[in-house]
Amino acid sequence: MSRKLFIAGNWKMNTDKAEAVALAEALNQKIGSIEQVDLAVAPPSVYLSAVAGVLAGGNIQLAGQNMYYEDKGAYTGEVSGQMLKDVGCRQVILGHSERRHVLGESDELINHKVFKALADGLNVILCVGELLEEREAGRTDEVVTRQVKIGMEGLSSDCGDGTPLTDRLTLAYEPVWAIGTGKTATPDQAQEVHAMIRKLLSEMYDQSVADGLRIQYGGSVKPANAATLLAQQDVDGALVGGASLNADDFSAIVQAGVN
Ligand code: PEP
Repeated sequence: MSRKLFIAGNWKMNTDKAEAVALAEALNQKIGSIEQVDLAVAPPSVYLSAVAGVLAGGNIQLAGQNMYYEDKGAYTGEVSGQMLKDVGCRQVILGHSERRHVLGESDELINHKVFKALADGLNVILCVGELLEEREAGRTDEVVTRQVKIGMEGLSSDCGDGTPLTDRLTLAYEPVWAIGTGKTATPDQAQEVHAMIRKLLSEMYDQSVADGLRIQYGGSVKPANAATLLAQQDVDGALVGGASLNADDFSAIVQAGVN
């Protein structure tokens, strides 16, 4: 089955307002009219509105980097799904390794957020991936399986409201040892885990969900390695950190997906 590639840029906490706007303008100009690949960028939350203004009318979607699972209340510092929607987000990244390992988020908390985001009408990019010591101990499949199973626990194949899960949720396999380190998983390593996840999805749901759900690879994706990674059978896109801060590099990665 051929799945439309989905390439997203995670800007993390790495731009000020002027840089975010300038980056969005450059991306809009370079790749904003591309239709063959789904595209999104996730600016720092305080600059979402500014970037939304730039991206309006183009094909680059706006994504939040995180959200909380309550609508409103005494949750100092948090942002709700409705707030993300209110400023123009269509996607939200959940369970990013920095949320898990720096901010201490559990699989259960992430599962709560996934449910709420989907109920709020946001599409979800759910990140999973093993630490270096887990890979070296031969525990990659076990860790990723646990993260996928608990992260998606209770989700039905129609999201409970008739919209297909395969349209609403994307998995991002991001080996933690490859994020921001310049060490990319080899295309074979990425393909191996993506195929394992797809088999797991066939057991959790059925073959059509397994075939239809997109699985991005993330971890030091650059213009030089994008084409080979994206050519892998079970790699359906990329979640790009560092290289998404450079309009030329991110555009080159997207072009590698178009070709
Ligand atoms: C990420 O932040 O999700 C990521 C993959 O970062 P980088 O591309 O810099 O490794």
